[in-house]
Order: sequence, then structure tokens, then C-alpha cells
Amino acid sequence: MIRNHYFSPEYLQRSQTALTLALSAAPAYRAWQAHDPGELVSADERYAAMPVLTKKEIRENFPQGLVPGLRSVAEGVQHGEIEYVQTSGTTEEKVTNIWNQAWWNASEIASWKLNAHTAQLDGTQREAQLASARSVGFRSETDLPMPARCLDRFLFLNEKASAREWEERHFQRMARELEDYQPVVLEVNPSLLARLSWWAIDRGVRLYQPRVILFTYEFTSALHVRSIRQVFQSPLVSSYGATEVGYVFMECEHGTLHQNTEFCRVDFQPLKPEHGGPDLGRILVTTFGNPWTSLVRFDVGDLGRLDTRAACPCGRKEGFRLSAIEGRLTNATFTTRGKLVTTTLDDALAPVAGLRDYFLEQNLAGEYALKLVASAPADRVISETRAALVSLYGPDAKVSLEVCGDLEPAASGKYRRTRMNFDYDAKGLLA
Ligand SMILES: [Zn+2]
Repeated sequence: MIRNHYFSPEYLQRSQTALTLALSAAPAYRAWQAHDPGELVSADERYAAMPVLTKKEIRENFPQGLVPGLRSVAEGVQHGEIEYVQTSGTTEEKVTNIWNQAWWNASEIASWKLNAHTAQLDGTQREAQLASARSVGFRSETDLPMPARCLDRFLFLNEKASAREWEERHFQRMARELEDYQPVVLEVNPSLLARLSWWAIDRGVRLYQPRVILFTYEFTSALHVRSIRQVFQSPLVSSYGATEVGYVFMECEHGTLHQNTEFCRVDFQPLKPEHGGPDLGRILVTTFGNPWTSLVRFDVGDLGRLDTRAACPCGRKEGFRLSAIEGRLTNATFTTRGKLVTTTLDDALAPVAGLRDYFLEQNLAGEYALKLVASAPADRVISETRAALVSLYGPDAKVSLEVCGDLEPAASGKYRRTRMNFDYDAKGLLA
């Protein structure tokens, strides 16, 4: 039991049911049965006795191994109940999943209840998406007219894999289409909306204000929020999930991330105190109620920071509360003394006025190369950024800085802020 976090008897029962079902009916978990102390112990103890599910195991057991019961995936696909989707990213990151749209929609709508600005949404409202076409929508190298980018209630503002393909006409088109389509919800990669915002700031263009803007797909940089806030007055809400597990956390109107307890269980594995534990830890997700896939203790690869307060001012009680998602463990960097640095890098750079974006590579222990995008005179931005990096990584950090017009997104079409070019023992960080 984790202090200051409340889990209802119903949630703990859902946890027990999901585990019993997976172990008894999904072939992938047959070998896990030997670890199971059974339903006589608490759900937390029982889950703690289980291994961790990785992307590698999802790949090895695909497609039938993760299905709880006798449903045939081939028949489900034939009847249009499910389809295959592949997550984006590098070969190592890519996973093919069984996609059950009905369960996904229900998970999304449940997560919306966790924020006052989205609680009234029911999945029928007009929604525009500004995301990499590698994540959602229609991908095309040639420009697609608006009707070719509409599907049901969605308008996909972008058909390019990378925002680097955007030219003046694409920015103008996005501004025009937002005005014409008048979406209630604008769901975005924050790094893509930041780029549209830079364009609007630099040209003094006013953009249509949706009722709510949802950040998803990637980590939200404080620098991007600053640019977006200069253009949009709409409520900004972060939603955290993954293709494999649906919607896991949703930011409430007080900035706290609340767990979507109707649709998933979360196990929290703290890091060692010297790396930020026990409040910083790895997030493992178990899905509830998806008839086509049982994921148990799936390692989504991200770190979360527990909200240590007794309660959130919004009054929502159930489940884990996080004060932040601190990015992927594989995107972490280290100080010159070997201490883990998560997205606290972003916090350290946030005060630098005129800094719009950055990408940091740690090449060898003690060497940091940062590319940056600036809106202000580069000399001052460079010196303030350098000071922030040295203060974070250590006085002996060797820092090199390069100003560029824009940054390249990763293979997934999403932006990452850091890369570490040497191996380390990620499991060794866990308490
Ligand atoms: Zn709250």
C-alpha cells in the first residue's frame, strides 16, 4: 500500500479478476502460474510476485497468446471486430498489437471523466488532430485536400510523417482549417502544436481557440507549453497512455495526473534513492476488460513521479496520482557523477527566455552536445543554456551547443529531447 494513494475494494477486485483471467486463459501467461500465490493474498502482493511483461514477449506471443479465452484472432479480424496495428518507432520499439476500437474508445471516454474540461465529452464532438501521420490519420507525401483527411468526426490537420516537411502553405492551411472546422477538441503532439504556435507568433496570426487542447503521443516540454500559451487560451490537458494499454493517466484541472482505474491497474516500482526514488519509479500497466488482449504488468518504459500530497484539490480520490511523467527510462541521461537525470532537464531549461526547443546527446560520460532552436539573440540563449546544463550535470560537464533552424523528429515522427549514446544497466536503477 502506498501512502496517500487510495485504491477502492472494487479496484482491487478488478485487479484480482484481471490477473486470474490472464493466468488461466491467455497462453502467454502459462509459465507465470508457478509464481501465483492465488487470490487468498492481496492483489498488491499477488501482482508483486509476477514477472514483468516486455515488448519482446508481446511480439513472441502475437497474436493468439495474449487473448484470454478461445476467441480466434483470425475470425475477429474477419468480422471487423479487431485489426492489427503497429506502433511507430525503431525496430526495437515496434510492436504489432490487436486493436479493439470499442475498448479503446471506452478507455478514452473513462479517462475524460478525470478532468472538468473533458468530463462532458462523449465521443461525438468534432475533433481535430495535429500529430505525425506515422501515429494517426492519413500519410501522404503529396498534399491531401481537406475531405481526404476527414474521417467520421475527425479532421487530421497533417498528412506528413515529419513536421520538417511543413512549408508556409501547410501552416496557412492549418490555420484556415481550424477556423473552418471549429473543432471542440484539438488533440496534438505538443511539439507539433508548438511549431504551429511559433509560426503564429512570428507572423502575428490569431488562431481558432478550441474548447480544450489535449496533449498526447509524447512528453510535453515546458518550453512548448510556453509557446502554445502565447497563442492559445484554451485549457491544456495532458493525457498519458500507449497503443498497447489505452488511456492510463489523465491530467485534472489542477495539473495532477490521475489513474484511469476503470480500465487499468498500475504497479509502481520505485527507483533507488540516489536516482530519485522512492517517489520516482517505473510504471507497469495491467489492462482491464479488453476481451481481445490481457496485458499484465506491461513495462511501458516510462517513469512517473508520485504526488506525495495527502490529496489533490480536485477531490478525485481513486488510484495513483502522479505529479509528472518524467519520460522514458531509455531517454534518461546522467550527471558527470552518474546520477540519473530525467525530464528534470526540461525543468532546468524552462527558465531560459528565447529558448524554443532542444535536443541533447550525452556521448561519453561527461560530454553533452545540445542542439537548440532560439527565438531571441542566440548569444544570450547560448550562455544561459550552458549555465543551466552545467548546473544540472556538474561543473566538470563538457558542454557543446549548436543553434539550428529546427530539429529532426525521431523515426516515429515524434520528437525526443535526449539521447544517451552508451549502454547502462536500467534494471540496476530500480530499488
Ligand atoms: Zn486532481
